[in-house]
Amino acid sequence: MRSEELKRAIYRCGKCKLCSITTFHPARDYLPLCPSGTYYKYQAFYAPGRLEVLRGILDEEVGNTGELLKIAYGCTLCGACHEKCKEISSIDLNHAEIFEDMRNRLVGRGILPEAHREITERVRETGNAYGVTTKKTYPSRRSGDTLYFIGCTSRYREPEIMDSMIAVLEAIGEEFSILDDETCCGSVLFRTGQRDAARELVERNIRAIEESGAKRLVFTCPGCMMTFKKNYPDLGVELLHSTEFIAQHLNDLKVRHLGMNVTYHDPCHLGRHLGIYDAPREILNRIANLHEMKRTREQAWCCGSGGGVKSAFGDFALWTAGERVKEAKLTADVLTSACPFCKRNLAEASDGMEVYDIVELVKLALEVQS
Ligand code: SF4
Ligand code: SF4
Repeated sequence: MRSEELKRAIYRCGKCKLCSITTFHPARDYLPLCPSGTYYKYQAFYAPGRLEVLRGILDEEVGNTGELLKIAYGCTLCGACHEKCKEISSIDLNHAEIFEDMRNRLVGRGILPEAHREITERVRETGNAYGVTTKKTYPSRRSGDTLYFIGCTSRYREPEIMDSMIAVLEAIGEEFSILDDETCCGSVLFRTGQRDAARELVERNIRAIEESGAKRLVFTCPGCMMTFKKNYPDLGVELLHSTEFIAQHLNDLKVRHLGMNVTYHDPCHLGRHLGIYDAPREILNRIANLHEMKRTREQAWCCGSGGGVKSAFGDFALWTAGERVKEAKLTADVLTSACPFCKRNLAEASDGMEVYDIVELVKLALEVQS
């Protein structure tokens, strides 16, 4: 966005601050909605305050202080403020995009957390965000129209999600391929304002996908999928999240009801950013007893790990996940989600609660049957 466009967008915010809470109807409960403002407790960390700080940057009124770094990057880009603002006003400010733009401007001036610089270095050196050099290889799979794009977190940190998805694809009878040398999709670089560094990754992935001949990409990571949708050119291939793909094939899978009382955490990238709310619920309703938390769908509380927060502001990320776990414990016995990043942070804060990705439960439902 150009500076003038950004300022026009910022001036449309009436600073009512209703985007900081869930529903505001006096007869109903309201709960915090913005993790950043709730944790840091200053106006500058809520959406209207952060917009005002951006205006100050554009008007060259705000200098580079330690607080600026925290205000600009201590936001998960969860998009809850955008959804709430849309619900109560005719303003349609895409806060997450605006805040990402703010970061991009700061990166251009060399203002970014050290942890984000380090991620870029790791991606440059190893092709993945975790800097893993000993890569797990698979029997080469190069058949069918479907390509399973695994993503760094499922591949290197939550491999049970990847293994479960492969088992479910096999149970469906889908012929699919996996890239032998998959590269980071670039999500973390885009979200942390490092667009230039992400470009090379985009080109590498486009080449690999075109060479594969795939007509459909399936993702267990909503962050990867959103990046392909938002930051890649149209590749002429269908993009599907694992939950959408599984929901489409639910009748082909012989799954049993697991008898578990589960609740579902909507990942920000899957729900608010991609609009996928129903497919995960359809699957869970088939294999378990689903109970909803109070903050759900468009007004779900974030898991705390997105937008580069987990790497740069670990305490804030963990506190946010802890708040979600408390809510989940009031609702059900088992917490589920549909994002490796959510699962990782929620599991870290779980305090004994079982946390699964939906594909793991689907695999479990298959295993119970066999
Ligand atoms: S972003 Fe929307 S809801 Fe939030 S303070 Fe501004 S006008 Fe109000
Ligand atoms: S994107 Fe999320 S964390 Fe950031 S200001 Fe909006 S509600 Fe708060």
